Amino acid sequence: MKAKCTYRFQQKTLDFLNQKQQLFINGKWISPKRKEYFPAINPATGSLLCEIPLSDSDDVNHAVEAGNNAFHTQWREMNPESRAELIFKLADLIERDKQVLIELETLDNGKPLDKASYDITSVIRHFRYYAGWATKLAGSTYPVVKETLVFTKREPLGVVGLIVPWNFPLMITAWKLAPALTCGNCCVLKPSEKTSLTALYLGRLIEEVGFPDGVINILTGPGNPTGEALVCHSGIHKISFTGSTAVGKRISGQNAKHKLKRISLELGGKSPNVIFSDADLDKVSKSLHWSSFYNSGQECTLGSRVYVEKPVFDQVIDQLIRQSKKLTIGNGLENPDLGPLIDRQQCQRVLSYIESGKNDGGKLVLGGQELRIRGLEKGCFINPTIFTHNDDDIRIVQEEIFGPVVVISSFDSFDEVLGRANNSSYGLVAGVWTKDSQKAFRFADKIDAGTVWINGYDQFSPAVPFGGFKESGLGKEMGKNALDLYTREKAIWYNY
Ligand code: NAD
Repeated sequence: MKAKCTYRFQQKTLDFLNQKQQLFINGKWISPKRKEYFPAINPATGSLLCEIPLSDSDDVNHAVEAGNNAFHTQWREMNPESRAELIFKLADLIERDKQVLIELETLDNGKPLDKASYDITSVIRHFRYYAGWATKLAGSTYPVVKETLVFTKREPLGVVGLIVPWNFPLMITAWKLAPALTCGNCCVLKPSEKTSLTALYLGRLIEEVGFPDGVINILTGPGNPTGEALVCHSGIHKISFTGSTAVGKRISGQNAKHKLKRISLELGGKSPNVIFSDADLDKVSKSLHWSSFYNSGQECTLGSRVYVEKPVFDQVIDQLIRQSKKLTIGNGLENPDLGPLIDRQQCQRVLSYIESGKNDGGKLVLGGQELRIRGLEKGCFINPTIFTHNDDDIRIVQEEIFGPVVVISSFDSFDEVLGRANNSSYGLVAGVWTKDSQKAFRFADKIDAGTVWINGYDQFSPAVPFGGFKESGLGKEMGKNALDLYTREKAIWYNY
């Protein structure tokens, strides 16, 4: 394969990349205390995009202090309608600069332009959905004692730390920032050190909207020191984290030692996608290569364990191989189906899982190697990889790979596949394909997964709660549920 790229960037994108990047604290752009920077690398080409400031505990102290000050003097006191107006205006500016954000996400994360466009559209929808909630944060009344009015009201928590991964950088930022703001909290946002650009551009838009100083602070930097300093800070009232289960557990442990602040965790997955022989196989064929390889497999909801009922096993595999071979791979700016993996470390991790799959007896039926693309020699690309295997106890079936690798097994009965689908420490999502609605609902009832898609996959809406069971997380984002994550409920007894 050969790379050529003649993409014409928005002038705003080029100007942004030429500016010195700084931290956004208390409404001002400032240099990090330690004056240290780290590179933002384009994963498709390996080239340097710009230098990103590294925040340490002094910067975290500064941002948390600014957040607490803004919380007590401005944001908590603001009329909810005025809060909503600012959030709506932010959505409008994101929409105005949508193409710039798409380009920055593609450059920084590697994802194809049309997939980045999907992400930014979803960001706009999230801000608008939650802006509408600012005026609807109702409590309840309880008629329990006569001549007493007992009611509850919802209050914001204070300053919340929002820690975001690299696979859907601005989209997951919106999942957290939009409900946190609408509920009246001030925020310290920490994007992943691998994808800081769209968060920093969002800071420009936040400044333009005119949020009071300190309501939203943006600190770039790695898990250590930046993320850890945030988690351990006594002036933070809640941590909202999305990332790996290993880091989520570490954060829980640290949180227990430091003031026991509120915490919500959206973690990893190893999700089953179950195809019964009475499924509409045309529909399956149009979906399965996407649910197996979307975002080059760097997706928490990836349907990475596929179970196919024996009578249609060969047909489904043949269809999947045919569709997967058609997937184009390359520089996200050329809008292929799949872009690069985020970096060399991730690539090595995925390749070592592929080796372990072969060593553990998996049968490799497609892919399995790194793809070299002329002109993109420093990028990391891996071909869609399909294993078949029927023993669920091997690593590639149990562990999250976070790359374009899927394992397909056959099954004989409903009970067998339900047991195998639930044989996982994770419980994020599941897919089930059948024309028999009774079977589909029985499966949906019994599967340990926070979301179940019947005859579909990877469908999301800002209005529908999302979050995993078991080791896939704690708490639900999106929908009305996210308001619980960012408010506390107070009961008041008024004896008249
Ligand atoms: P990661 O856990 O390595 O990092 C996530 C974020 O946490 C980054 O911002 C990182 O800098 C920060 N961090 C790392 N160590 C920290 C520490 N000790 N204290 C505080 N912050 C720390 O995850 P990743 O590699 O960026 O993302 C991939 C993972 O995210 C996968 O496991 C994936 O399944 C998961 N994920 C889950 C969801 C979901 O909604 N359930 C969505 C997307 C990604």
